[in-house]
Amino acid sequence: MSDLRELYQEVILDHSKHPHNFRAMQDASRSAQGYNPLCGDKVTLYVKLEGDRITDVSFQGTGCAISTASASILTQVLKGKTRDEAEALFERFHDLVTGHGEPDGKGPDLGKLAVFSGVSKFPVRVKCATLVWHTLRSALSGSEEVVTTESAVE
Ligand code: ZN
Repeated sequence: MSDLRELYQEVILDHSKHPHNFRAMQDASRSAQGYNPLCGDKVTLYVKLEGDRITDVSFQGTGCAISTASASILTQVLKGKTRDEAEALFERFHDLVTGHGEPDGKGPDLGKLAVFSGVSKFPVRVKCATLVWHTLRSALSGSEEVVTTESAVE
């Protein structure tokens, strides 16, 4: 049970119950859809860009606590970031949830994203946590295809 408790930390539960920036964006520069068939998580991500900088992010969707909380926290941490900074955060976050990261490794400060460290103990949950990030990458690249975690490179 302690592992489970660690996974569903209070922060994750809180974000899943009260997700931030949970709305459609009429004037989004980019949007993309993601789907994780293993869990049933679906997300639509909206991004507003000014030049290379992300000035607004929002999402809609349905899914488990992990995927919803991950999307909610993503929208908070990405606002104001450049595309390169977002990509660097994704790499760091991916290392964290797959258990490959070094706690004091190089890269940007994970901030709130660190609450997902417990996910690395649950490989099936990694896709729940990374779905919205793969969707972000798709949105920024302008791809029209729906991202599924089954085709995404882990
Ligand atoms: Zn899920």
